[in-house]
Amino acid sequence: MNIKFSADEEAFRQEVRDFIKKEVPSDFRGADTDCQYEEEAREDIHKFAGEMRKKLAAKGWLGMTWPKEYGGQEAPFMYDFILAEELNYNKVPGRDLYGCSIVGPTILRIGTEEDKQRYIPEITKGEVTWSEGMSEPEAGSDLMSMKSKAELKGDEWVINGEKIWSSGAHVSDRYLLFVKTDTEVPPHKGISCFIVNINDTPGVTMQTIQHMDGLFAFNSVWMEDMKVPKDALFGGEGNGFKVILETLNFERPFSGSVMTYATGVLNQLIEYCKQTKRNGKPMSEDQVIRQKLADCATRLEVGRMMAYNVVWMQNQGLPTPKESNMIKLYGIESTKKVYDTAMQILGPYGQLDEESKCTPLRGEVKYLYMRAIGLMSAGGTPEIMRNTIAGAGLRMPRG
Ligand SMILES: Cc1cc2nc3c(=O)[nH]c(=O)nc-3n(C[C@H](O)[C@H](O)[C@H](O)COP(=O)(O)OP(=O)(O)OC[C@H]3O[C@@H](n4cnc5c(N)ncnc54)[C@H](O)[C@@H]3O)c2cc1C
Repeated sequence: MNIKFSADEEAFRQEVRDFIKKEVPSDFRGADTDCQYEEEAREDIHKFAGEMRKKLAAKGWLGMTWPKEYGGQEAPFMYDFILAEELNYNKVPGRDLYGCSIVGPTILRIGTEEDKQRYIPEITKGEVTWSEGMSEPEAGSDLMSMKSKAELKGDEWVINGEKIWSSGAHVSDRYLLFVKTDTEVPPHKGISCFIVNINDTPGVTMQTIQHMDGLFAFNSVWMEDMKVPKDALFGGEGNGFKVILETLNFERPFSGSVMTYATGVLNQLIEYCKQTKRNGKPMSEDQVIRQKLADCATRLEVGRMMAYNVVWMQNQGLPTPKESNMIKLYGIESTKKVYDTAMQILGPYGQLDEESKCTPLRGEVKYLYMRAIGLMSAGGTPEIMRNTIAGAGLRMPRG
């Protein structure tokens, strides 16, 4: 077994690092991977994210594993993961997570030729960003109980209902929407998926919801007699549950890649402990602190190996029902552990305003700590991950 990167993969990682150094101003404080979580008012960040998206597209790095006929490079999956790791580590926006890692791969796997021609090239060209509407106020873990409905009237589907927690819907172009098209059949046969041009379809209203860390992350989306053409239906009528499973299978491993940013924070924390004295000696000599940092580093290392394994399996075309859920669970729990540890070690300094002279690590840790609580639920809560690992992964019957 060889778990080393090849010379070509290492060269590609260096190319991405050089690109980031050249294109990202040295004083850039970082934005979320796709920048969709940034505060509404920060137009400059959105503009920068759009410019970065175009530059990534020009390099051929958006959807780089996809077939050449749709604008991809047919690169091995590991290249795309290396790109995501380097961008995440530096918190560089521009690679739309939903388009590149979730919806694009789903369309390629189960879409028609027409869907692929229509939706994939615009992702690889960096022309659009995507969001997803699954959750509703009374349907999160149990998506089968969703209430939003679509009815076919003539040549159009008329959609009514409400979605919640749609990340980045307020700044995206396309919306992967799940609603019921048949309430008479068992729920898993009555859900359908639609692709909606979310920013120019009449009948949609949206309200951005502010997360406790201050960012405008997600939205409530109301649909009132929203009309979409017949061909907005994706995956076939009644096949929405299958589409949900496909998207989650792609989403969950990439949720694990949030660990890369935590790795950067851990590295800064280690430096801080080496350089800062407490009780007359460097913090890095304190046994308890050393052990906490070693625990975090071990977790991140294990998580990284798990993530590489999933990428390798996906590259072989192998199903990852157990592994995708394991990496999401382990990755986000490890990330939360790093921020939790950082809050403990920094003590009151970690709670200072970012403008304060005494604030370590740019005052960022408290926000990351709050953010990690949300990320535990995004894409499926830890309890649901464990249930899914037991069921789909370990084939244990439901009680
Ligand atoms: C940062 C963030 C981003 C998000 N982005 C999106 C998005 O873009 N699009 C979208 O559609 N949704 C999004 N969500 C919503 C997310 O998918 C849901 O929050 C998640 O699926 C859980 O649903 P819920 O919040 O309704 O909790 P509930 O399902 O009501 O669960 C509440 C609690 O009960 C537990 N629970 C529920 N069922 C079981 C069970 N069977 N066994 C054991 N425990 C159980 C859960 O683990 C949880 O602790 C996002 C959420 C967050 C926090």
